[in-house]
Amino acid sequence: MTDKEIKTLPLVFEQRKGLKKPPRHLADLSADERVVAAEALGEPAYRVKQVATHYFGRLVNDPAEMTDLPAASRDRIVGELLPTLLNPIRTLEADKGTTRKTLWRLFDGALVESVLMRYPERATICVSSQAGCGMACPFCATGQGGLQRNMSTAEIIDQVVDGARAMARGEIPGGPGRLSNVVFMGMGEPMANYKAVIGAIRRMVDPSPDGLGMSARNITLSTVGLVPRIRQLTEEGIPVTLALSLHAPDDELRNELVPINTRWSVHEAVEAAWDYARKTKRRVSIEYAMIKDINDQAWRADLLGDVLQSYGDWGWVHVNLIPLNPTPGSKWTASRPEDEDEFVRRLIAKGIPTTVRDTRGSDIDGACGQLAAVDS
Ligand code: SAH
Repeated sequence: MTDKEIKTLPLVFEQRKGLKKPPRHLADLSADERVVAAEALGEPAYRVKQVATHYFGRLVNDPAEMTDLPAASRDRIVGELLPTLLNPIRTLEADKGTTRKTLWRLFDGALVESVLMRYPERATICVSSQAGCGMACPFCATGQGGLQRNMSTAEIIDQVVDGARAMARGEIPGGPGRLSNVVFMGMGEPMANYKAVIGAIRRMVDPSPDGLGMSARNITLSTVGLVPRIRQLTEEGIPVTLALSLHAPDDELRNELVPINTRWSVHEAVEAAWDYARKTKRRVSIEYAMIKDINDQAWRADLLGDVLQSYGDWGWVHVNLIPLNPTPGSKWTASRPEDEDEFVRRLIAKGIPTTVRDTRGSDIDGACGQLAAVDS
């Protein structure tokens, strides 16, 4: 598909907006709903289990490979339970093929992206949870386009299944492997699409054939800090890793960088994250994009250290600094290396474990905050 054609896709989306929901898919269904779905298909309940074993267990979605299903009704059953949700429009590769960004068109023309990153010891898929995003953070490309719509549980899961399949089939250099990690750091604010996101997380951690059997601790949910949702997640009983996109330790600057801060302050967001760590025993991650001369001053490092320290030093938190990735039309750039070093040094001096994220895929606009799902 040419760039020009891709540009016209959002128009198709506009025309269809609000017409209907994404097709219902096996991954959207609870155990009870699966039984109902089998009945509706006029099939025995175990039929749905067979399809689930193919999809979640073997990562297969082609009816031709499902030879245990009756040949005559195979296409119909699979068409009903595994409708195509993601249509690949374009794939870009970086890091010798170990980073792969895919642009997907959804059933209504909405566009989203996901990024698969293979490292020596793990493979991570960065998934989108919404088409667009309503949070309007000025340094993030996704935030500039506004929210189009929430994605369904299955639209989220299918990105993970696609990544797992690519790994299993050896499509990524390094031989066949396993997808180990999922990060909700693609397009969208996952906490603003809470129900579908929790459904997707459940499908990821449920053992086969009900789900992908992944470890909850290898799933990271990144949020701008919708405090009531963080509290709800704390009660959910799924120990995923929580990442809070803080980006400033003071309300004055955070109001500008993460506009939702005018609703829930630095203090409220950090307290909810701390409470999450306390109750789940999972160390939370504070995300901090390093923006030159905006939020990278030494005094802000000290203030960030003090804010986090005020909740105790029992290892409840670590800071992940992200060198700002450039986005179109933004006047901001990444911090100078010496300022970044000083920032790290000061946080560590206050006893806060701090790392600098290796940003993969910036040359294919696939890095944090660069996903815009337009011709890039
Ligand atoms: N909406 C969620 C998840 C998506 S963004 C959230 O905000 O947490 C994933 C991470 O990338 C967030 O920490 C986000 O603040 C960060 N990010 C956004 N734009 C960026 C940019 N241009 N450079 C570096 N990081 C960016």
